[in-house]
Amino acid sequence: MKEFELIEKYFKNQSFSRSDVLKGIGDDCAVLNPSSKIVVSTDTLVEGTHFLKNITPYDLGYKSLAVNLSDIAAMCCNPSWALLSITLPNISEMWMRDFCAGYKVLLEQHNVQLVGGDTTKGPLSITWTVMGSSQNKIALRSSAKVDELVFVTGNIGDSFVGLEVLLNHPTEMQEEVKDYFIRKHLHPVPRIDLAQKLRTFISACIDVSDGLYSELSHIAEKSNKHICIDIEKLPTSKNYKKLGYGEEIALSSGEEYELCFTAPKENFQEIQKISKITNINISCIGTVCEGKGVSFKKDEKEIKSLNLKTYEHFSSY
Ligand code: ADP
Ligand code: MG
Repeated sequence: MKEFELIEKYFKNQSFSRSDVLKGIGDDCAVLNPSSKIVVSTDTLVEGTHFLKNITPYDLGYKSLAVNLSDIAAMCCNPSWALLSITLPNISEMWMRDFCAGYKVLLEQHNVQLVGGDTTKGPLSITWTVMGSSQNKIALRSSAKVDELVFVTGNIGDSFVGLEVLLNHPTEMQEEVKDYFIRKHLHPVPRIDLAQKLRTFISACIDVSDGLYSELSHIAEKSNKHICIDIEKLPTSKNYKKLGYGEEIALSSGEEYELCFTAPKENFQEIQKISKITNINISCIGTVCEGKGVSFKKDEKEIKSLNLKTYEHFSSY
């Protein structure tokens, strides 16, 4: 199969087209006609660095796009258009079919049109560029203010355990528990709809890709504030608690793709309401103060001895 046949068969056929795309796949450039501010983000995933060799093409298609959509969610914007640059060692039609099925679920769910890309031969690597739009205030890392509360969505820590399960195949763990953790690692849910609901109530926002501690440090640094976290409030799943991994792993676990954000105290009730409506946990885990850096407390006492890491994909394996 030739490159242009591949593009025709797998990338060009899409179930919908957006009215703000004047020209999609098939010319030298895509032509977009947006009516608002645009946010753009790109991420590359390389085999062996960002995903394991034995990942299924479906999971790779899904996750490679999900992590990029998560960046758009972190700005409280709506994803609208995507570009896919893919390097393949060879063309397998079965592989292509499954890979495309994986990302198409997300494109359709969020009304994002694939408007172009590039296809080359070489070691497997996937680069998505996703663009989003917004007519509203955009949630920046630098927007945290003194006296605001700090929140995180969902649970943290499960993605780390999922990767451990994929790498070490623990025999003592029940199959359904293993599946739970693997799913959390391979199928992150980009918090796009939730971010849209939260948008007017929050200030700074970031998605958890390198670990919650790392993301909190980014907000603190960019906002020039201090963040104090109550480690007893960190949300972890029932399955995670049973394993007894604790707070250090939860704070260091990467690839969670939950949102971490700050909001004025008076918006607490509204945020709880959104949590209820969406059935997604939103936990208040700390406060923003004058100063620098991130600190942790338990029972109102400061804890200094935490061993925290920034998640660096497979560097430690
Ligand atoms: P050019 O030589 O002008 O770069 P290409 O032959 O690379 O054109 O691509 C032809 C068309 O197919 C372009 O519109 C390009 O954006 C699109 N395209 C190529 N690869 C992909 C891909 N992996 N996903 C989506 N669109 C693609
Ligand atoms: Mg090209």
